[in-house]
Amino acid sequence: MLKVENINAGYGNLQILRNLSFEVNQGEVVSILGTNGAGKTTTLRAISGLIPIHSGTVYFNDVLLNKKSAEFIVKSGLVQVPEDRKLFTDMTVLENLEMGAYTKGARKNLKKNLEYCFELFPILKERIKQISGTMSGGQQQMVAIARALMAEPKLLILDEPSIGLSPLLTKQVFEIISEIKKNGVTILLVEQNVNQALQLADRGYVIENGEVVMSGDAGVLLNDENLKAAYLGIT
Ligand code: ATP
Repeated sequence: MLKVENINAGYGNLQILRNLSFEVNQGEVVSILGTNGAGKTTTLRAISGLIPIHSGTVYFNDVLLNKKSAEFIVKSGLVQVPEDRKLFTDMTVLENLEMGAYTKGARKNLKKNLEYCFELFPILKERIKQISGTMSGGQQQMVAIARALMAEPKLLILDEPSIGLSPLLTKQVFEIISEIKKNGVTILLVEQNVNQALQLADRGYVIENGEVVMSGDAGVLLNDENLKAAYLGIT
């Protein structure tokens, strides 16, 4: 579904991504893992058309995305929940969710998709009229994920959904991601929370200094001694 091959990208003259390759197949949850500054967000920016790709290719369902606009990329079904959530904080929960339904198809299915979001996140139904900026961090993360679902993503991209959340809320958010997967949405999950991400994912890629240094089935990575020592604090 998404095939990223040997991309090089960065900011101005500063190269961050080095011959980075990974792929996501239909129906999978794939996790991109790495510490602060490893290049995870930069990878997402490159595939979403927010920074230029100097070389290499990004194909989504066999369409070359290099040089395509961010708008084209979103409309083709690659929908991202950014790390800072980017909610319309002075708008209500409902208004935020409605803003998510910006394609023709999504607008047509708005009611049905709203019901689906409220099934996933009952708290949002209770808080439908609340100004989203006044909600807790965890609730805002739920609004951000629900808004992305309103766009009917083919590939849902989550950038560190657990950041700033308590362990309990993190657990809840991961359970919801697992539920979304069960409903057939393909997911690319960027996380520093290696352990929880790999429990949920089918496969993972570990990035260091803009390069993939390890990849494989999530179960194999979870039991990898080097990964345990480096990221899970277990030796
Ligand atoms: P984090 O968890 O901190 O977001 P990350 O793995 O997502 O980490 P990136 O945000 O992709 O890392 O950052 C990779 C590198 O790119 C870092 O060295 C960072 O300082 C640099 N960088 C990020 N954004 C910019 C920018 N707008 N201009 C210049 N350098 C940047």
